[in-house]
Amino acid sequence: MPFSPTIAAIATPPGRGGIGIVRVSGSSLDALIEGIAGRTLAARTATRVLFRDARGAPIDDGIALYFPSPHSYTGEDVVEWHGHGGVAVMRLLLARCVELGARLAEPGEFTKRAFLNGKLDLAQAESVADVIEASTATAVRAAARSLTGEFSREVHALRDALVDLRMYAEATLDFPEEDIDLLREGEVAMRLAAIRGRLDRVLERARGGAILRSGMTVALVGAPNVGKSSLLNRLVGEEAAIVTPIPGTTRDTVERQIEIGGIPLTVIDTAGLRDTVDEVERQGIARTRAAIERADVALLLVDARADTADPRTAMHAHDALVAELPAELPRIVVHNKIDLAFAAPHVARYTATLDAGTDAAADARAIATHVWLCALTGDGVALLEAEVMRVAGIAHGLEDAFLARARQVGALDEARDHLRRAAAHLASPPSLELFAEELRVAQAAFSSITGEFTADDLLGEIFSRFCIGK
Ligand code: GDP
Repeated sequence: MPFSPTIAAIATPPGRGGIGIVRVSGSSLDALIEGIAGRTLAARTATRVLFRDARGAPIDDGIALYFPSPHSYTGEDVVEWHGHGGVAVMRLLLARCVELGARLAEPGEFTKRAFLNGKLDLAQAESVADVIEASTATAVRAAARSLTGEFSREVHALRDALVDLRMYAEATLDFPEEDIDLLREGEVAMRLAAIRGRLDRVLERARGGAILRSGMTVALVGAPNVGKSSLLNRLVGEEAAIVTPIPGTTRDTVERQIEIGGIPLTVIDTAGLRDTVDEVERQGIARTRAAIERADVALLLVDARADTADPRTAMHAHDALVAELPAELPRIVVHNKIDLAFAAPHVARYTATLDAGTDAAADARAIATHVWLCALTGDGVALLEAEVMRVAGIAHGLEDAFLARARQVGALDEARDHLRRAAAHLASPPSLELFAEELRVAQAAFSSITGEFTADDLLGEIFSRFCIGK
């Protein structure tokens, strides 16, 4: 292992607590240990020592833990000084380490060294920060699955299967006359389909995890007075927005943080969209459009009393609005005020096209999910919550999610794209060269997740987001 300078940091949060820990890592810590403890330390044994300053005066009475290389978190020599958790005493102890040759650790530097020394792969290293930052119990479990390497193992398995397939395909490139037999047998196509299926499952688990990390944004849109504010209040469980029977009074965009099934959701209640001459209301409408742009799901509210024989026509009431929604934005049509329409809470999904329209908005309208509920009493709101989860692609819950990052989901998506293109190159006319090239690029995407081929600047960026002491 190459020489690396000694680094030190207070590893426990600032403030007062029963115990505070200063962690030190470096190529050789003998002198530093001697300087503070006045003695050598047995490996991996809790040793009670007096921490001493340069003149030998005690700084604190605590426990020392010494992990000689390579059996430590970073793979280097690591010593942890467990003292009392006070701000001043921790600073004195840290200053003493610096006096003895250590420098202050940068954010994430311990974990970065663990990665560089092969103790963790990149996906695991990133999940260290995720475990610490997880805000819900589901998120902690998902991060722990990544930390223990379950996510990495899945990605490695995908990469290995791809390497096998590449070897198989490239071997046949050298014998072009066998191309036809090979393709006819469909062996390559079958193996590729198996890899793609497995990737889809990993991607779904990773997507769920990405949603656990950063949450989702749900936009409530619809004409004035259909009950957007009332529904928001239902979802939040408090009086978040002002509910009033006068149309057009929700003049601002109101955001609330809620949690459904362990997922942090930002719900945005938008100002009623309608033509208006009122300047304040016009500004509200501009904000509504901005909110829709960053939403993951749109809830389109309509009045259930306006329902006709075919509920899909409810969308026509908002043709102008619907036309403005990004075509790929998932949406749920909410038929509110069922108490006034004498309807029961229920869900319906429509996959058939309503009309022969070929524009994107018409397609999106065709796959819309419809939910009937009563925002006033909360009747049917649970159905809506379940639909929001389903539309987010996490219908199976998040119990087996990997707490993946956008970077990782992006790499999996990229691999999926290349594998789809690879499959296309198997179709007629087949091109094994282009097929093999797509596999090569897909493999690189997998490797970027676990860090086998990751540029230095990306590493710098990833670890700089850690806090100091990790
Ligand atoms: P917004 O303008 O879309 O935000 O609509 P509000 O939430 O302010 O609701 C407008 C009016 O409809 C208020 O008087 C609400 O009490 C009423 N309202 C909302 N949802 C329901 C419902 O499910 N049933 C009934 N009967 N009234 C509702």
